[in-house]
Formats: sequence, C-alpha cells, structure tokens
Amino acid sequence: MVEICKDREGLRHAALEMLDEMREQQRERDQNSGDRVDDRATLSPATKTRRTLSPGYYMLLGRVMDEADAQLKAGIPHSEIALDEDDLLAWSILEELCAEFVKKYPACSMCGAPLRDWQEGTCAACGEALKSSKGRKN
Ligand SMILES: [Zn+2]
Repeated sequence: MVEICKDREGLRHAALEMLDEMREQQRERDQNSGDRVDDRATLSPATKTRRTLSPGYYMLLGRVMDEADAQLKAGIPHSEIALDEDDLLAWSILEELCAEFVKKYPACSMCGAPLRDWQEGTCAACGEALKSSKGRKN
C-alpha cells in the first residue's frame, strides 16, 4: 500500500479536486448570496461526489491546510510555518497549486474577492475594474 503522505501524484490529484470544490462552493455561495445562504454545510450533491481517491488523501490535505491556517492566524510568517515531516510533501503541493490557482483566478485588488468572472474585466463583488493580476501574497 502506498503511503499517502509520500504519494506526490495522488496528493496533487486530490488537492486539485479540493481546490476545484472550493471554487465551486464559492461560486454557489456567490450565486446564493442574495438569499443569505452562507451555510458551508450545504454542498450540492455534485460537489460531494467529485472526490475520486481514498478519503485519507483529503483528510491529510485538510489537516495540513487547517494547521497552516492556524499558524498563519497566530501570526507566524508564511515562510516559517512548521509542520510534521509527514505533512511537508502535502504542504509543498498545496503551495504549488495555490500559486497556480491564484494566477489563474486572481483576487480583486480592491476587496480581495476571487475574480471568478475576471474575463468580464470587473470584480463580481465590488465592481472594481480588473487591472493586471500581479502576484498577490496570500
Ligand atoms: Zn472587488
């Protein structure tokens, strides 16, 4: 059996699926924002069934995200986040993918909303016209 924490391909695949899911959830929330539906638990069935790998991959990635998030919130700089050795590969993959993701779907320079509709040239959340998508630090 492959050790999940060392399976770069598998982790990358699972992380991509998770990022896709998040994007989808965000879009659903945006669409429903008029109805004040911000309940994270309400996922569409389509979103729920997208995952194709064993739950261990998603659990590991989720744990690493939470852990990193907690450290960032505690004021630890991004470059100094400390993780278990088993979590390091997952973290490096997440970082890689997040960087690609942000490039693909840049955040609004005014309000920070992800510019899912950036092709239209304006931010869906605040209406700010999109300028160049310079590398935003997260
Ligand atoms: Zn905006």
